[in-house]
Amino acid sequence: MNSKETRSQFLEFFKSKQHLIVSSAPMVVKNDPTLMFTNSGMAPFKEYFLGNGKPKSNRIADTQKCLRVSGKHNDLEEVGMDTYHHTMFEMLGNWSFGDYFKKEAIEWAWELLTEVYKIDKEILYVTIFEGDESEGLERDTEAYNLWKQFVPENRILNGNKKDNFWEMGDQGPCGPCSEIHVDIRSAEEKAKTPGKDLVNNDHPQVVEIWNLVFMQFNRKASGSLEKLPAQHVDTGMGFERLCMVLQNKQSNYDTDVFTPLIREIGAITNTNYGKDERKDIAIRVIADHVRAVAFSIADGQLPSNTGAGYVIRRILRRAIRYGFTFLDKKEPFIYKLIETLSAQMGDAFPELITEKNLITNVIREEENSFLRTLDQGLVLLENVIETADSKEISGKKAFELYDTFGFPIDLTALILRERGYSLNEKEFDTELQQQKDRSRAATKVETGDWVVLEKDDVEEFVGYDTLETQVKITRYRKV
Ligand code: ATP
Ligand code: MG
Ligand code: MG
Ligand code: MG
Repeated sequence: MNSKETRSQFLEFFKSKQHLIVSSAPMVVKNDPTLMFTNSGMAPFKEYFLGNGKPKSNRIADTQKCLRVSGKHNDLEEVGMDTYHHTMFEMLGNWSFGDYFKKEAIEWAWELLTEVYKIDKEILYVTIFEGDESEGLERDTEAYNLWKQFVPENRILNGNKKDNFWEMGDQGPCGPCSEIHVDIRSAEEKAKTPGKDLVNNDHPQVVEIWNLVFMQFNRKASGSLEKLPAQHVDTGMGFERLCMVLQNKQSNYDTDVFTPLIREIGAITNTNYGKDERKDIAIRVIADHVRAVAFSIADGQLPSNTGAGYVIRRILRRAIRYGFTFLDKKEPFIYKLIETLSAQMGDAFPELITEKNLITNVIREEENSFLRTLDQGLVLLENVIETADSKEISGKKAFELYDTFGFPIDLTALILRERGYSLNEKEFDTELQQQKDRSRAATKVETGDWVVLEKDDVEEFVGYDTLETQVKITRYRKV
């Protein structure tokens, strides 16, 4: 089943269960100080769960554009490294606002997966909340008994509070959740890695696909829990992961959601995907990031030096840098992918077609300007190497390149290593910390290209451009 059919069958199914089908809310959130980007299907409905306002229907389903690069959910470091975390992805969801509860949510989820999508029952695992004594919370036996109708007991696993109890925040609606995982290991791999404990992403081919949240409590300001008068259901299923299962693939990037992009990147950069792990990571990163950037621009959020625009700029620059470093692409090329992306996804998200020219032009401009920065930085770095009096380059010098010229630190580290030099990372970290302290004190907006973003301490954008990334690069260089 291709991705278009997969998406429409989800919506059709819930329509047949009397859900109102709505369009995705924008991925870029305006006017919410706690959230820059929609990071789950639930986010646009938050106010209804808090009791502010009423939804058009008490049963709703949709596919929501999500971005997980900041705050509580930051998957950036996984992207490209694994095969099922993206920055931008679609979350399929169905909701009950004070209407149906666990019974329908579980029975319909099972019906959809096994009867409509015809996923082999044998590869499905589910988790339920095991309870938590310190909170006086009981094990979710109601969910357990419902699952027991369909799933053998040895594939119903207990999960702890971290994985199986959802909370909106310090206060507000919360409750146990039940996750559905798929085991797509080959028979051979299964023999090598037996056991049911692989659930919860301990094995790259045992993947969570759907989370069913049952909101039945309210966390009060005092921290105590009270029962909600009306119970709600909030579910989220990763669309690209579902496509992976339905298309019998081992990676989201091998589904038709991504293959047109991957093919195009391969053609433009003259690289064959699947031959060299380092290049494959770069190709996956670019295929992923171009979606995040394109959807964001289509929503009206252009790359800039502040807030959400800054996050987008950094995502795009990260893609450019991967192309520059690993695919040897020294001129703009990411903008060329928009044609393919809008052809692939324009049906479901027409904004990609109406805004195609804008998206293309903005990306091309950004690529041009950042590539100029990289060029200048390379010349300066060459100078630093030539004038160095030891094989260890000072962190101060690297910081200067980073801070004044916007040259990414991981690129500096990589080039130095390739040339047989090392970098005094401690010195660099100290400089970075001092600069952060200074800018925090001045509470001004950062304008450097590769500075760790601080946004009101609400959203924390953990830097992929810090030495953490270098560790990752080091790791896969050894492969
Ligand atoms: P994971 O444990 O794999 O990181 P999660 O528990 O953080 O997932 P949820 O918040 O429960 O994810 O979101 C609901 C569903 O959305 C998940 O079951 C998964 O299928 C999908 N999903 C979550 N994060 C991503 C991502 N970064 N890329 C693609 N799909 C995702
Ligand atoms: Mg996660
Ligand atoms: Mg999870
Ligand atoms: Mg989950």
